[in-house]
Amino acid sequence: MSDDEGGICPNCGLPQDLCVCETIAQEEARISVSIERRKWGRLTTIVEGFDKNIDLSDLSTKLKAKLACGGAAKHGHIELQGDHRGSIQEVLAKLGFPEEMVQVDWSFQVTGRR
Ligand SMILES: [Zn+2]
Repeated sequence: MSDDEGGICPNCGLPQDLCVCETIAQEEARISVSIERRKWGRLTTIVEGFDKNIDLSDLSTKLKAKLACGGAAKHGHIELQGDHRGSIQEVLAKLGFPEEMVQVDWSFQVTGRR
C-alpha cells in the first residue's frame, strides 16, 4: 500500500475531493437567532448553533456585508449589531442555510420605548 495521505480529510478519512463534511455540517445545522439588549439599550442579534466545521469568521464577514452592520464571530456564535430577525433567514438562505433550519426567536419584543 502506498496511499497518498496528503489530501485526506481528518474528520471523515475520505480524500478531500470526496469529503462532504462541510456540506453535511450545513445540512445538519440548527441555527437559532435571538436578540439581546446590551449596554445603552443597544440590540444585538445572536446567531448560534453552527456546526464546528463552519468557518464563523468568514460567515460573519458575509453576514455583516449583506446586512450592512457591525458584528463579530465569537465563541461559536455570531453577534450582529441591531435587530436583524426580519432579514436574517433570507440572508442565511443565500449563504447555503435553508430557512427551515433557522429558528428565529420572536419572544423579545422591541417596543421602541426607552
Ligand atoms: Zn471530511
